[in-house]
Amino acid sequence: MSATILDGTKIAQQIRMEVAAEVQTLAGTGLRPGLAVVLAGHNPASEIYVRGKVKACEEVGIHSEKFTPPESCTTADLLALIEELNRREEIDGILVQLPLPSQVDAKKVLFAVDPAKDVDGFHPVNVGFLSTQRPGLVPCTPAGVIEVLKRSHIPIAGREAVVVGRSDIVGKPAAMLLLNANATVTVCHSKTHDLPGVCRRADILVAAIGRAGMITRDFVKPGVAVIDVGMNSVTDPAEFQRFFAGNAKREETFRKKGSTLIGDVHPEVAEVAGALTPVPGGVGPLTIAMLMFNTLKAAKMRRGSGVSELARA
Ligand code: NAP
Repeated sequence: MSATILDGTKIAQQIRMEVAAEVQTLAGTGLRPGLAVVLAGHNPASEIYVRGKVKACEEVGIHSEKFTPPESCTTADLLALIEELNRREEIDGILVQLPLPSQVDAKKVLFAVDPAKDVDGFHPVNVGFLSTQRPGLVPCTPAGVIEVLKRSHIPIAGREAVVVGRSDIVGKPAAMLLLNANATVTVCHSKTHDLPGVCRRADILVAAIGRAGMITRDFVKPGVAVIDVGMNSVTDPAEFQRFFAGNAKREETFRKKGSTLIGDVHPEVAEVAGALTPVPGGVGPLTIAMLMFNTLKAAKMRRGSGVSELARA
């Protein structure tokens, strides 16, 4: 048996098209959603992510502004910027790209973002809304996990879901979303006993660990839907061989770039699972698509005529 590969790039494109259509409709009423992205200091990976986010805004018609405080910025500088962005009516979403420079109190800065503009869904008010099933802004990557399942017609209600990872940004909100969708949810972490045994109970297995290829065939029961959130870069040739020996396409990328991206799920799982998100091209593209969705949702909740069917999804 070979798993159905769940094409995250295609699903993300669908979502972006739906967002673009709604943005255009809103434009007819004189409302253009706006996103402010705060990129403090110099972090090459963050710069790439922010470029992707700004480009996505352009593509769907969302107004975006980038703020680039210097590496030496203080907590007070960022708090002043957030306060200004909170006040500006035409800014619907504020995204503070992490990590912030080490001298900055990141928690304090994130807490200062108006929850109504918190398009990352990290503010405790939005965390509370999620856990009490009230309308709010949901973290983008976990929201993307649910979109992949729903749009791939994988049933959630009544099924056993196991989430490996309990971070505030992925594992916990993913577990809460699955619970809200009526799955029976188990959350695992580094202290879980018999992790393979617990994972084998899953009909839906979400891996959000940050360890290359850790979920092997021993962790999965035949037919399970596996959502691989992990994004790990492999640069060691021996490690590369362990995962991808005989995969001509990967070998070519690795030769050219000296690295390749792998999830938390070992490629051999494709032989046992019923469905699987690839890395790259699985959950990754959904994160930016859901950021666009959240910015539109924030604009409508703050300034529009309520929440549409799309925002309710
Ligand atoms: P994180 O904050 O480091 O959390 C990792 C979680 O995995 C923790 O709860 C940890 O348990 C658990 N864990 C670590 N080793 C384990 C082990 N051996 N057995 C069982 N559990 C273990 O990571 P994160 O921010 O949630 O990210 C997870 C992965 O998703 C990373 O690869 C990251 O790059 C990726 N990611 C992808 C996207 C995307 O857009 N696709 C977005 C965000 C993150 P403890 O709590 O006990 O330490």
